[in-house]
Amino acid sequence: EASAKVIDGKLVAQQIREEIAAEVSRMKDAIGAVPGLAVILVGDRKDSATYVRNKKKACEAAGINSFEVRLQEDSAEAEVLKHIAAFNDDPAVHGILVQLPLPKHMNEENVLNAVSIEKDVDGFHPLNIGRLAMRGRDPLFVPCTPKGCIELLRRSGVQISGKRAVVIGRSNIVGMPAALLLQREDATVTIVHSRTKNPEEIVKQADIVVSAVGQSNMVRGSWLKPGAVVIDVGINAVEHVQKDASCSRGYKLVGDVCYEEASKVASAVTPVPGGVGPMTIAMLLSNTLASAKRIHNFQ
Ligand code: NDP
Repeated sequence: EASAKVIDGKLVAQQIREEIAAEVSRMKDAIGAVPGLAVILVGDRKDSATYVRNKKKACEAAGINSFEVRLQEDSAEAEVLKHIAAFNDDPAVHGILVQLPLPKHMNEENVLNAVSIEKDVDGFHPLNIGRLAMRGRDPLFVPCTPKGCIELLRRSGVQISGKRAVVIGRSNIVGMPAALLLQREDATVTIVHSRTKNPEEIVKQADIVVSAVGQSNMVRGSWLKPGAVVIDVGINAVEHVQKDASCSRGYKLVGDVCYEEASKVASAVTPVPGGVGPMTIAMLLSNTLASAKRIHNFQ
């Protein structure tokens, strides 16, 4: 039985992180400047706290300075804006990241608009998204998860130009920018969302499938064109049947794509975990380094 190539995001991300660490040290030696990333975390969501901790660790490993502000769940929006303004003015900070989601009483649009586009390493400022969508314009930063998907395709030797790509999901942080990026790479792009009729028929035409839905096992092997390349962005916690007593966690993480089926039909597929996830952090470091280089005019 045909078996798809496993696109090892963990390995690719590790290579990229080593390249970044080398660049950070070259920059430090040459001009004495060190890239800095500031993270603002509001509230005490466990998943957000874990993401922030991992980002901080990855910065340290790459030699990037990290700054962190933690605010209470019930903090005022003005408090967040104050910290953003301070980081915008701080020359040691080259990237500012507001961990989403924000508490319900805050206006996400106001908060993201306040980040200087020069330091918008998440790429969520509307000016950066707008430029991403426009012909002949270039965003200063591209959102990390979609950028990681493209980088995985590129480093796996997958041709994008002229191919049919289907993106499942249209969120501001993954689906929409992923579709824009694939289009910039000259793919012919279709977007599938929750109101799409017969998604399987559309997905079946794709040479490249990017799934960012958040539903385990939604994309079945029968949805895929033989030889398709599948990038599974979904991270879904599903109940785990305990095989032995040493396994204490009651859940495991899976993607949107039924991996076992997909690997029999696709030519290449990303695993979850170990696919797109590690790439997201690598792209954040890459954006932070690029920002520091731009601000210090260092090539
Ligand atoms: P959102 O919930 O914001 O968006 C989900 C999208 O999927 C929406 O556009 C929605 O459509 C669409 N959708 C929902 N149900 C269906 C369906 N049955 N058929 C087709 N489309 C559907 O999620 P995110 O984009 O933030 O995240 C998506 C997944 O990616 C999650 O599992 C998340 O955990 C993961 N993720 C992984 C990251 C990583 O680093 N690997 C980073 C960020 C997210 P509609 O617009 O119509 O509602």
